[in-house]
Amino acid sequence: MQFVLSTRNAHKVRELQALLHEHELLALPDDVSLPPEDAPDFVGNALTKARSACSALGIAAIADDSGLEAHALGGAPGVRSARYAGEHATDGDNLRKLIQEAPAGSALAYVCAIAVVLPDGTEGTVEGRCTGVMADTPRGDGGFGYDPVFIADDDPHGRTMAELTDAEKGAISHRGRAVAQLRALIERLPAP
Ligand code: IMP
Repeated sequence: MQFVLSTRNAHKVRELQALLHEHELLALPDDVSLPPEDAPDFVGNALTKARSACSALGIAAIADDSGLEAHALGGAPGVRSARYAGEHATDGDNLRKLIQEAPAGSALAYVCAIAVVLPDGTEGTVEGRCTGVMADTPRGDGGFGYDPVFIADDDPHGRTMAELTDAEKGAISHRGRAVAQLRALIERLPAP
């Protein structure tokens, strides 16, 4: 099936296209604007983004909203993960702020909500989680965002997400888990 992917994040496009290889994901055209991400939860933001691409283009849309929850910070940065160090913060700025605030060894969780919206009004959402701990120092060049300090509980070698291949990350990540549920949800959708 063909979907427009309602995001401007090139890393997400790459990870989602690799995980959902049996479907065709179209890039969001530059002239379609994304709504502000002001919902209190990941599912709400994913739905808003998917609805807006579907209604602008009249084709099925998928959107992901994801982030990091640090136990030591009461669940922050959460839905504000992309803007943790400020409105125009880079991934590097956000990572440095997390390293200053969350102690090594403290519990972390990645969360990924994905919404799918069809032109006939059908909507569905899924959510995947991945737990881990804060590394004592950033390691690895892969992935993006907070990956250099996120040691997933499910990696038996204690590597950070940035030290895993894309396939290894996808097998245990929040996004990989959400996509596994999304695949099943897409199979149950009404035929276009
Ligand atoms: P969104 O575009 O609002 O969903 O923001 C997601 C933000 O959460 C990203 O900018 C990263 O800071 C963080 N994030 C989400 N998924 C990942 C991941 O797989 N690795 C590292 N950081 C992630």
